[in-house]
Amino acid sequence: MRLLVVGGGITGLAAAWEAIRGGEGRPPVEVMLVEAADTFGGKVRTEVVDSLLIEHGPDSFVAYRPAALKLIEELGLADQVISISGTRTVYLRSRGRLRPLPSGMGMVLPTKLWPFVTTGILSPFDKLRAGFDLLLPRRLRNGQDTTIGAFLRARLGGGIVQRFADPMVGGIYGASVDELSLDAVLPSLRADEAKYRSLMLASLAAGRKARSAARGPSSPFRTLNGGLGSLISALVEQLTAAGVSLHTGLGVDRLTPLPGGGAEVRFSDGSTQPFDAVVLAAGVEGSEELLKTAAPAAAAALAQVPLATSTVLSLAYPAEAFANPVTTHGWLEADPAPISGITVSSAKWAGRAPVDTVLIRAFVPGRLGAIAEAPDAELIAAVTDHVGLVLGAQRPPTSVRVSRWPRMMPKYTLGHLDRVAAVEAGLASLPCWRVAGSPLRGVGVPDCVADGRRQADLALTAAALGGVRVEE
Ligand SMILES: Cc1cc2nc3c(=O)[nH]c(=O)nc-3n(C[C@H](O)[C@H](O)[C@H](O)COP(=O)(O)OP(=O)(O)OC[C@H]3O[C@@H](n4cnc5c(N)ncnc54)[C@H](O)[C@@H]3O)c2cc1C
Repeated sequence: MRLLVVGGGITGLAAAWEAIRGGEGRPPVEVMLVEAADTFGGKVRTEVVDSLLIEHGPDSFVAYRPAALKLIEELGLADQVISISGTRTVYLRSRGRLRPLPSGMGMVLPTKLWPFVTTGILSPFDKLRAGFDLLLPRRLRNGQDTTIGAFLRARLGGGIVQRFADPMVGGIYGASVDELSLDAVLPSLRADEAKYRSLMLASLAAGRKARSAARGPSSPFRTLNGGLGSLISALVEQLTAAGVSLHTGLGVDRLTPLPGGGAEVRFSDGSTQPFDAVVLAAGVEGSEELLKTAAPAAAAALAQVPLATSTVLSLAYPAEAFANPVTTHGWLEADPAPISGITVSSAKWAGRAPVDTVLIRAFVPGRLGAIAEAPDAELIAAVTDHVGLVLGAQRPPTSVRVSRWPRMMPKYTLGHLDRVAAVEAGLASLPCWRVAGSPLRGVGVPDCVADGRRQADLALTAAALGGVRVEE
């Protein structure tokens, strides 16, 4: 059996990894993976320059979704996993100054009551309004999707949305909570309301449970001591050793269905080859383009997934540029600013910069408007002025790198799950072709790993059955 994986980001590499490890009763598989760009990794890109470890894309992953850690263990990299340095000190810039996130604050709701009651992030009115949640009846009476913003505003008021949900959830998904789908992004909130009625009571109960079961580091974030790029290098190395045919600088131009469920594939060098199964791990636009002719309905549904633009600036300052040592792990912006937040990589992770250097990642999502589109010089000036002012820098950074990701982050907006179902329906007659990765079922690295593996398994199982659709 021959599998083609299109796209050499984390999803595609995880799909190839799953394919060579073999599923129950599956015949051996010959795997080819092609990546159109010059390097593997897609959005995962680590660079070491002047003793600085720069992450151009993701810098960490959450441990509570186990797929990334499991893959890392399978690759023999478990001893390279690191957790955050010291204690997690994250701030929100709210109402004019940096304020620590209340202890026990989850993505949106508190898991401890007292730190929430005493935080200065919310005004007394906002806290009172949030308390209405304890009394309000259930709002989600039918199964219809709504936006996270609309749901939270109705239950807890605008303060929680503006000061917590939008900076925290919107920051991760590169979109406003007023466009993000509740059912695709935070389905647990629907379940919490159904069970507890009050989201606040549900979150406090979850906090008590987590604290009584607490073991290991309290922060869920993990990375590798050589950066996430070492996950990509290890995959490439071990896949190559296992006989997978891996190519960079080679794209797929066209897929044509073959009888029996496979595909005739035309590559960007003009060559063609037949495959029994295909995993499309090429992002929204890459996968959509390849499905246009053979599965136009699936392509049309993919085209409905909006894409966000995101830019990361890596700023290196000499430590003496600051009057006081920079020990915070960063902050999120709940006030108007040219950034959505920063991570102080040198404080958060070991080995990111020499001890006399402060390395900062500043985020400029497209939703901030004109600044996100500004040319480098203007963008750098606005970001360094703001970051320098908040942190009290007495001089500008000595090095700045700008990593732009235009139209790269899929946004799971209202109705996203309908679009996922439409892609599935559009591919019903092509069961050995699967779309994997961030376009549909989760943008985080662990989600991409899990989905890459799952879709490879589904495509190969369908092919082994002679082109019979396998239900998820
Ligand atoms: C700035 C930024 C920060 C992030 N931070 C985090 C974080 O801290 N933690 C986290 O968990 N997630 C984070 N994410 C999200 C996460 O990085 C991505 O969702 C994930 O890496 C996507 O992986 P992928 O393999 O699905 O897609 P991609 O990485 O986009 O890979 C798709 C690949 O397909 C290739 N391709 C496209 N078309 C073709 C074709 N026709 N032929 C051959 N190849 C093709 C592309 O060149 C590309 O390399 C971040 C994302 C960004 C942009």
